[in-house]
Formats: sequence, structure tokens, C-alpha cells
Amino acid sequence: MKRLFKRLFSTLFLGLLAAGLAVVGWVYLQLTTFDVVKVTDDLFMLSGLGGNVAVLRTDEGAVVVDTMNFGFQGTKVRQKAEELTGQKVAVIINTHYHSDHTHGNPGFPEGIRVVSTARTLEHLQTRDAGFWQDEAAGLLPNETFRDVKVIRIGGKTVSMVHPGRGHTDGDLVVHFAEDKAIHAGDLFFNKYYPNIDLEAGGSIRQWTSTLDQVFKLPFEKVIPGHGELSDSVGMAQFQDFLNQLVEVGETATGTGAGLTETIELADFTEDEGYREIYVPFILRYDRAFVLKRAWEEFSGK
Ligand SMILES: [Zn+2]
Repeated sequence: MKRLFKRLFSTLFLGLLAAGLAVVGWVYLQLTTFDVVKVTDDLFMLSGLGGNVAVLRTDEGAVVVDTMNFGFQGTKVRQKAEELTGQKVAVIINTHYHSDHTHGNPGFPEGIRVVSTARTLEHLQTRDAGFWQDEAAGLLPNETFRDVKVIRIGGKTVSMVHPGRGHTDGDLVVHFAEDKAIHAGDLFFNKYYPNIDLEAGGSIRQWTSTLDQVFKLPFEKVIPGHGELSDSVGMAQFQDFLNQLVEVGETATGTGAGLTETIELADFTEDEGYREIYVPFILRYDRAFVLKRAWEEFSGK
């Protein structure tokens, strides 16, 4: 009897172990498999779990914008960039401090050029200090700027602009002049409910005028932080979504509506077709979340 139990337990244990490993393997595969969209002959968008990465081919190495969630994803991004461009990666640009755009940096060799806004570096060193210790610290941004920075590399002109507050208070937009495209970072979520990081200086009220600055850049294609490749029409719809959120916030303060009432009764239609971003136990960006953030920002509560 005892032996039977023992055998039963070990079979059960091995079964659970196999199932666990299968799940881990599946998640790993999802995290390291990217869709590649060719934006132009020299510009590519890699999409995976962790949003969109831009890869630009130049004659003096590749430029990579954002690196996803994990070091091993960063390694895959680097390998994919080398494969697509036939060049080593020369520069990493981080659009903002969130982990799904920066935690892949350690998948690149220490000493590589890493560019961000000064504000993003501050956020990384304060709001995410736990991660950027020891070896990871070697992949923190080592070139920062406040408003505008231009890099000329291998026949390409890559401009970075901090257009104002929105998703956080440190986001940058990358303009690829010769390829007539931008990577908007998380200042543009294409048909996904956005995170609005009020705690890191984000602001729905400012976000719409920040996008006005982005529209001044000459571009045809837009790589959003999350969602499919887009253009000015797609980004304008996102701006309408934000403008309507501003109205919801203003109405709530005007009428003194509470949070529950605001979420239930808000006159909010521009989110039609938007998808939620949901990671079990960690985060959920959906209709209720963005309405809550609007209520919080405008009521000051
Ligand atoms: Zn973000």
C-alpha cells in the first residue's frame, strides 16, 4: 500500500513538473517570438509581448528603439536586429522608463550607447532602482538630453524629441528622417487602453497638446508603443480618445461626480474597438482604468 502511494505521488509529481515546464516553455516561446513588419527598406518594427521595437539599418550599425521586458528578450531583439540589418547594434534608445521598454537592455553588451531623456534616467534610478543594480546598472542610459537630440549615423538622421508630458513626464519620440517615420513610444497606444502614469508625471490634460507637438514632425508611418503600425489618422483617433477623457474629467469635477458614478455614467465613446491590456495579478488597463485615472487627475484625489 505504502509503495503504491509512493508510486502514485511520484507519477503525480512528474506529471505536474512536466505540465509546469510545458507552461514555462510556452511563455518563453511567446516572449521570444516577434512579428516583423517592414516599415521601409531600412526600418523594421518588431512586435511581441512587451510592445513594439524599432530597428533601423544604417551603414555604421543598427539603431534599436526599446528593448522589451526581460534580458533574454533583449538578447533576442539584438539577434533579430543583427539578422535584419546585417550590422551590430550601435545605439539603443529608451522611449521612457517602464520595464516593458527597458528591462531588455541587459541583453546588450555593456558600454553600448544608450540614449534617453534625463527625466527617464531619473525615473529608472528612483522608481525602478531595485532592478538597475549591479550588472544591469551598466546598461542604464549613458547619453541623456532634455528637449531635443539629433544623432547622425551611417547616412541616417535620428532625432529624439521630448514633446511634453503625457504617458509619463519623460517620454521621447524618435524621428527617422530619411524613412519618414516615427516611433511614438507609449505616447501612442494604437487601439489599446493606455497606461496613464500620473505618479511619474503623466497627465491626460497635457497629453493631447503633447501630441500636437508630435504631429509637427514630418512623417508618414507611426510605430506606436503598443498595437499595429499606424499613421497620422490612427494617431489622431488616439488624440480624440484623450480629448474625450479630458471632457469626462472636466464634467466629473464640474458636477462633483464620484468615481463609481463617473465610471458607470461617463459619456465616453471614442474607445470603441479598444482592447484591454491584462497581465493576471499584475496590471489591467481597460475602460474602467482610464476613466478612473481621468477622475483622479481632474478631481485631484
Ligand atoms: Zn509605458
